[in-house]
Amino acid sequence: MSHKVTLIPGDGIGPEVALAAKRCIDATGVAIEWVEALAGQDALDKFGDLLPQSTLDSIKKNKTCLKGPIGTPIGTGFRSINVAIRHALDLYACVRPAKTYAGVKSLYKDIDLVIVRENSEDLYAGIEFEEGKPETKEIIALIEKFGKKKIRPDSGISVKPISKTASERIIRYAFQYALLNNRKKVTAVTKANIMKFTDGLFLKTAREVAKDFEGKIIFEEALVDNMAMQLVQKPRNFDVLVLPNLYGDILSDLCAGLVGGLGIAPGANIGEGMAVFEAVHGSAPKYKGMNKVNPTAMILSGVLMLKYLKENKAAEKLESAVAKVIAEGKDVTYDFKPDPKDPSAASTSGMADAIIAKIK
Ligand code: NAD
Repeated sequence: MSHKVTLIPGDGIGPEVALAAKRCIDATGVAIEWVEALAGQDALDKFGDLLPQSTLDSIKKNKTCLKGPIGTPIGTGFRSINVAIRHALDLYACVRPAKTYAGVKSLYKDIDLVIVRENSEDLYAGIEFEEGKPETKEIIALIEKFGKKKIRPDSGISVKPISKTASERIIRYAFQYALLNNRKKVTAVTKANIMKFTDGLFLKTAREVAKDFEGKIIFEEALVDNMAMQLVQKPRNFDVLVLPNLYGDILSDLCAGLVGGLGIAPGANIGEGMAVFEAVHGSAPKYKGMNKVNPTAMILSGVLMLKYLKENKAAEKLESAVAKVIAEGKDVTYDFKPDPKDPSAASTSGMADAIIAKIK
């Protein structure tokens, strides 16, 4: 069966790593019709819009998108184009696996865990009130009235909404993901002992959802501060972690650090019947056009995409080719070399060529 996939090259290093990933995915033999769409600087230059409606429509139509990183020019009215895409398409689940591959410089071995982060609410909902503004003063007065707490008049305010609906949706997604991917345990991570009505609601919902998976998936709960320590001390104890937006963002970077950094951290943003796959890293503009950076995170995002498309054999082939190239340590980019100045380091396209050569 042939799949239609929207391809957004992105900017900075985006086009280089997106092309490397596309070539590797095609080399698995899966039939994909790529439909290119623009977002970011290219879209602004061509259509006068950083995020054209036609790009969102293409993703809605094709249901699957592979996206290169996009930088957000300052002063454009967007906090982040990447976040705008997630919001516009209601991609509520951010899935970020953290897995060690032999040959990657890392303090740990045998880590294989998955962060499932809620993508739409929490302190990242973008509801903020600037210090000194009249509306901020009104909000402060209201909070003092109902919250019976004093707030300094020169405060800025960020609002943390967490709903039962969005919590249930992400927690159910995490359990179902665990079931489908032969995982054993889901840990809900919050600060429910302090933020009782937001994190507390998330945890209460998690306990309820967990009952539907009793006997199939183990459920555990943890506080986010303690989880940060445990992840550093004994990361192998964890399997699937489900978290509200902010903690998910922070701990997914921590987990990327555990397994060797941004060069190897893939990601997926999943909504109802629709998904956008992208590396965790950004557009690293200083490396633009140098054919130098590591394409692995983007290629592994392609592995996640192939699994989403139920092309499991192709996904396994590609992941194992990536693992072999990394384990050999020869045709890898500078950041995977013991000495980053090693002149024998592969280029972005060179590493992709080596991976393609290993796909059987
Ligand atoms: P970044 O991830 O782009 O780069 C930080 C550093 O990490 C780089 O200087 C480089 O040393 C290293 N790095 C990143 N990707 C690498 C790779 N593939 N191989 C080797 N090294 C790599 O983060 P930044 O500099 O904070 O952000 C640059 C731009 O990217 C900003 O405009 C930001 O908004 C955007 N951004 C986009 C996304 C996304 O598209 N999802 C995510 C994060 C940041």
